[in-house]
Amino acid sequence: MLTWKNNIEALRNLLSNARQCLVTSHVNPDGDAVGASLAWWSYLKAAYPEMEARVAFPNRCPEFLRWVEGADQAIVYADGSESAQRYIKGCDLIFCLDFNALNRLDGMGEALASHAAPRVLIDHHRQPADEFQLAFSDISMSSTSEFIYRIVAALGGKPLLSKGAAEALYAGLVTDTGSFSFGVNTPETFRMAADLMELGIDKDEIANKIYDSYSEKRMRLLGYCLQSKMRVFPRHRAAYVALSRSELDEFCFQPGDTEGFVNFPLSIKKVRLSALFIESADKTHIRVSLRSKGKDLSVSELARKYFNGGGHFNASGGKYFDSLKNCEDYFEKILKDEF
Ligand code: 5GP
Ligand code: MN
Repeated sequence: MLTWKNNIEALRNLLSNARQCLVTSHVNPDGDAVGASLAWWSYLKAAYPEMEARVAFPNRCPEFLRWVEGADQAIVYADGSESAQRYIKGCDLIFCLDFNALNRLDGMGEALASHAAPRVLIDHHRQPADEFQLAFSDISMSSTSEFIYRIVAALGGKPLLSKGAAEALYAGLVTDTGSFSFGVNTPETFRMAADLMELGIDKDEIANKIYDSYSEKRMRLLGYCLQSKMRVFPRHRAAYVALSRSELDEFCFQPGDTEGFVNFPLSIKKVRLSALFIESADKTHIRVSLRSKGKDLSVSELARKYFNGGGHFNASGGKYFDSLKNCEDYFEKILKDEF
């Protein structure tokens, strides 16, 4: 049977020949992107001390994830530092975690697409692009963090996982599964969580750092979204929130502040589709987040069909290249046509 386990020896081979490697993840890195990347980096440093390893994110990770061990050492590509560029140019192995097409890296994607080093994909999204020399791609994984844990185990590297790496993995696991409420497809995921507890993580403290770390402005932005901006369409069992730049500015928006907001309307019993539209800082496009509940409505397909995007069955995203007002009209038309 063809499974990712068949790729382990090829991975071991690549690793034993590499001198300088890069671990990357998608733009606006979330808990899984940050957790998986930093845990993999921590493992690589322990397992291959002669190899240089660094993490690079296309842009900065949000405040609520900066406590993860190694976050402060990651390259932020958008900062444009020359030493970071030099490091990336000198790499002979590139790991691509928690995304499956280089266009999810914004500008950094172009730099990596023309790079001579082999690219290794480790990811749990549907339909990976044909841009990777070695691909670990499995949609049954709850998170890329779980995938990293299983790959480390298959490489015989579990004893090398530090408490910091375990915390990173737990952060990825807990954020990508809505605290174990979706995406957990096998008992193995809970076994992984148990193993991480045995490595000494404080799961309550991690949840606290991730979820109970709002600024007052962020909490008020959430209140504003739900009280004044949420539009509900009972006939279509859908809801959306659209936020303009000037609204975000009023609440001193920081990247990551709207993380998770798209889930709230799904708590309305009759709503099974929720969307969040956010005007980009340069006002060139709208960032789209889609969520559904249940097993009938694939927002991954919706994102692909209408918003140049993709993702998972119940959580996806994309972009819309026009004004916020037109995006709202466009979505309302989709509701009428599809639901
Ligand atoms: P979020 O709404 O949190 O930004 O993204 C939800 C999910 O959709 C994530 O798993 C993310 O990887 C995926 N996703 C978000 N934006 C895009 C996009 O522009 N293209 C693709 N292919 N996937 C996306
Ligand atoms: Mn993920």
